Amino acid sequence: MTKTNPEQKKYRGRFAPSPSGELHFGSLLAAMASYADARHHNGCWLLRIDDIDQARVVKYSDQHILNALEQCGFSWDENISYQSQCINQYHAALQKINQTELSYSCTCSRKQLKTFSSHGIYPGLCRDKGISDIDDNKSAIRVKVPSENISFIDQIQQKYGQNLTHDTGDFIIYRRDNVFSYQLSVVVDDFYSGITHVVRGYDLLDSTPKQIFLQKILDYPQPHYAHIPLAVTEENIKLSKLSHARKVNCDLKTLVLAARFLGQGPGQGQRGLDHKDFDNKDDFWQYLITHWDINRVPKMEKQVIMY
Ligand code: GLU
Ligand code: ZN
Repeated sequence: MTKTNPEQKKYRGRFAPSPSGELHFGSLLAAMASYADARHHNGCWLLRIDDIDQARVVKYSDQHILNALEQCGFSWDENISYQSQCINQYHAALQKINQTELSYSCTCSRKQLKTFSSHGIYPGLCRDKGISDIDDNKSAIRVKVPSENISFIDQIQQKYGQNLTHDTGDFIIYRRDNVFSYQLSVVVDDFYSGITHVVRGYDLLDSTPKQIFLQKILDYPQPHYAHIPLAVTEENIKLSKLSHARKVNCDLKTLVLAARFLGQGPGQGQRGLDHKDFDNKDDFWQYLITHWDINRVPKMEKQVIMY
């Protein structure tokens, strides 16, 4: 009989697209990797629509993304959550941080920031100004970061760390246009959904130390992280909504291409996966979930894809 450790929480993973366009190949990769890893571990896989920044929301794109996922053969657990419906949770978290006195209002204008900050690192201009009116509509809220290395072991990219003082400076958790920052909302969402494993694109690797720092001050557990390589065009342009990457085709060929990109398939020296190996999408998913091996995902920042 196999004993299960009661301390060991059941795997809960997620995919969190921003509803700013169609599902493109880059986001299919994040969906596939998070899904296959969760299902391989008999875990739950949740969907969250990251619509905190309403100005960037493209109407109906959430529906388009969900339809595409369904057509590709993904199936998710529990209700889909929307960040726009979790504002109370973000407020509570912000209040908790404000009580630690690690936060402060920042009234710097964009122009000031441009003049004083090098490489986007905030030089702490407002740190000791004592601007306390945190509810003031015109200021952002920043969090004071420590000058120590915050590192973690990424399940794909190995060890990664940052000294937030040198690498980012005090960062924004509440924007001056009254929107909770990506960093804060994601940490709060993952906590309330009980996420144990975060599998996402390499572009978010350098957000992870900030998120771990927020988890520490909010007294949240730290999930496991895995960052998959980004898909770029031959011209080294990341496939994203911004680069107008085209909508993904929900066919077997595309799924197989994505699985190959993620390093999956028969072992070294053997021929790669081919769509002719599978009768249909169900057959493909069954194969991928059974044989999924995160150790085979390329430990790289990016890879070229012709799609
Ligand atoms: N919504 C974010 C994005 O589309 C992903 C958030 C996350 O995985 O932490 O880039
Ligand atoms: Zn400032």
